[in-house]
Amino acid sequence: MKKRIVAFFLIGALSLSLAACGSQEQSSGDTAAEDDNTAEEETETADPSEGETAETADSSEGDAAEATDASEAADASEEETAKAADIMVYKNGNIYTSDEEQSYVSAIVVQDGKFLYVGDDEGAAEYEEGLPEENIVDLDGALVTAGLIEGHTHFSFMAAMKSLNYVEIPSTANESAETALAELKKFVEEHPDYDQYVMGNFSQTFDIGAKEIDEICSDKPVILVGMGLHCGYVNSKFLEVGGINKDSTDAIPGQTYYERDEDGNPTGKIVELTQTWIAFQQAIKIDDEKLYDAYLEMIDLYHSYGFTGVAEGGFLGLDEYQILDTLTELEENGDLNMVDCPATIWYGHTVTDLEEVEERLVTQKETYTSDLIHPGTLKMWADGTLGAHSALLREPYVDKDTCGVYLNTVEDLTAAAEMCKENDMNIHYHAIGDQAIENVLTAYEAVGETSGTKSIVHFQISAPDLIERASKIDGLIVNMTPIWANTVTPEEVDPVSDRRDIYGLYKEASDAGITINFGADSNGKEACWNPATMIMAAMSRDPEEEGFFLKGEPFSLEESLDAYTINVAKERRIEDEYGSIEEGKSADFVIWNLDNLTEQLAAEYMPDLLPETLAEDAEDVDTPVYAENVYFKGELVYEH
Ligand SMILES: [Zn+2]
Repeated sequence: MKKRIVAFFLIGALSLSLAACGSQEQSSGDTAAEDDNTAEEETETADPSEGETAETADSSEGDAAEATDASEAADASEEETAKAADIMVYKNGNIYTSDEEQSYVSAIVVQDGKFLYVGDDEGAAEYEEGLPEENIVDLDGALVTAGLIEGHTHFSFMAAMKSLNYVEIPSTANESAETALAELKKFVEEHPDYDQYVMGNFSQTFDIGAKEIDEICSDKPVILVGMGLHCGYVNSKFLEVGGINKDSTDAIPGQTYYERDEDGNPTGKIVELTQTWIAFQQAIKIDDEKLYDAYLEMIDLYHSYGFTGVAEGGFLGLDEYQILDTLTELEENGDLNMVDCPATIWYGHTVTDLEEVEERLVTQKETYTSDLIHPGTLKMWADGTLGAHSALLREPYVDKDTCGVYLNTVEDLTAAAEMCKENDMNIHYHAIGDQAIENVLTAYEAVGETSGTKSIVHFQISAPDLIERASKIDGLIVNMTPIWANTVTPEEVDPVSDRRDIYGLYKEASDAGITINFGADSNGKEACWNPATMIMAAMSRDPEEEGFFLKGEPFSLEESLDAYTINVAKERRIEDEYGSIEEGKSADFVIWNLDNLTEQLAAEYMPDLLPETLAEDAEDVDTPVYAENVYFKGELVYEH
């Protein structure tokens, strides 16, 4: 299909050149000659009558004067000039633009990787004149959206994990430590050639360490990552290779640290995120070539879901420079085909100085900013996760006598925000528990207005007073994962089951004036990365419906799509170029396989949990939803 499109463009250029010079009879047999002709005609027919074309006039070698004779002729030639390149017209569609000026249109015209026209079929018809059939696409009512941008993903981290042959154990294997470890045993036996074993989705509550893992594998580093990426279990070889021993210091004693025996030796259980990823970077090696290849797969996968961009939530235990170099190489080779907004991590002053992260942040923005790569965002954690009882709550957990952990204090969050303010950087703070959210809000209030954006990721225990307070912070953006808030079972939210009515309230936050964007955090099952699933989850929430464990209002389709497009672009400050279907912006768009997302989504996912009105429609529909064609900068990058 890619090849075919290129051919269309070529044919388009040929026939345009014919139209422009008025010789319809001219043979189109000689491609090279015609191409030359096209270029010449382009400059010759440029409209000099508007006085804006000094440049064009210069290059037109005096012929331009001929075109000034009649303004009518000039108008016509201007029109033709616009066509004298790779114009594509898409019409008769149900196109949601994510542009509040005109939400729905039926046609778009693309040229040179940008939207040339966005509007109705009538307006698009002007561009059709002289175009070959192949350059005019009848969308036949299909839903078209802007290319989606993942609002919070560990995309590069997942590429790195792929390069390490990372696999996740099924949740059912977490019944006990023994059943979970049996998965490791099977994996090691099936892949005796791997030099490191990295597995994920282990329950964070197991009491296991090097002793248990060594019995399965003791000669190569092994790390079993906890669900939500907030803890790790490692073997002796991992500790040895990583130089982790009695003398290793803990990132934050009592909060994120190496669990130790009575002699002070690490047992192989690593508590919470910071320590886990520091250890990971010390012990696990990522191969450059394998990483590059893994990226190619990940890019393809994300394209297949309709993504043409990602906002990264930090590279976790990876070398940020290795990642940024690889991304740059991908872009230079023409292999990236999406926009990537990386984030620079500061684990906090207990790990490294603020000056060090400032230098890293500034260097990365200066060195790596390009057309497709947009660093300049700081990622920091205020707390952990509910599953590990490390999300920071105001009131203790229901099932454990703790309020969670401070991965960073208000002082550190504030100092980092000040640093970002001074350097024109964006701030992206992880906060799940209500106390953590409050801490971030306190930091944001302290720094006041900033040129960069301020965001909060997860915002799960979203108490009404916090929504109210957050709404007063100018330009605050909150990233949420609707599927966490909608599809959880009572067991999954047991730790905070008494707070079910203030859980993941994106609609309420949005109504209060907070900009909401969506992301999957890419640490769940692959299915959760699917934005269609996420949008479905966001739309199907119903506070009145039985079967919904959590209370809260749903989003509309349009709100959900904005949360996956323009609102992410705004957070990373790339909205002038990306995130909506608007004239002059990058022509990133998705043609979906259907014309009504709601019904098909309903049929495909969780029909049992649907509000009744949607469920009725859902019964008649059996087509799953998928991205049919995905375009980035006007080029087809994925075809179902
Ligand atoms: Zn994350």
